[in-house]
Amino acid sequence: MNTIEGNEGEPIMRTTDQTEADDRAADAANRLRWEIGNAITAYVRESGGTIEDAPIFPGAASTTTRPAPLDGIRAARRAARVAENEAHYSVRAARSAGLGWDAIGDALGIEPDHDSGRSRAERAFDECAPRPSMRFDTVTFGYTCGTCAEIVTDMGPYESHPHDNERGHAQTCARMNAEVAAWQERRDAEDAEYAEWEASQ
Ligand SMILES: [Zn+2]
Repeated sequence: MNTIEGNEGEPIMRTTDQTEADDRAADAANRLRWEIGNAITAYVRESGGTIEDAPIFPGAASTTTRPAPLDGIRAARRAARVAENEAHYSVRAARSAGLGWDAIGDALGIEPDHDSGRSRAERAFDECAPRPSMRFDTVTFGYTCGTCAEIVTDMGPYESHPHDNERGHAQTCARMNAEVAAWQERRDAEDAEYAEWEASQ
């Protein structure tokens, strides 16, 4: 790490490398905003909508070209749906690669809800799994396992045993078998801890 840390582990000084990386990230964010704005305007123009002169900000004397308000709303909603589809594609790719709902939730900026006791993983699953057509049907998220290539039905990170959360992996799936082995290891450790506590009573 290039960061010099203060008492609380907070960086008190950033190195040149880090400042440059932050500047590049800020530039990239500005460019993304600018390019999406331009793409929305181009979409309105090319799809037969109206482009008009509008103040660069409310009350400003100088003007810029912008989509007419209702055309702008429609085009922005369309762009937001495209971005959502991109996110959905990446979530599916993450599950295929064996990344868990907690890591996906972190990338989505989701925090655990301590009031309701819902974990970040559960909240991420709820946000990403499509609503079932019948209200009380089970909510599931489908993806293709990148390890065994089978189509998996993910029922969310709600149960303890991996087999209870996901169905469809091949019996020989190395990833699923590793998750089951890790679960068994945790369970054995808990059992050993309990036996030790019981013996001490
Ligand atoms: Zn698998």
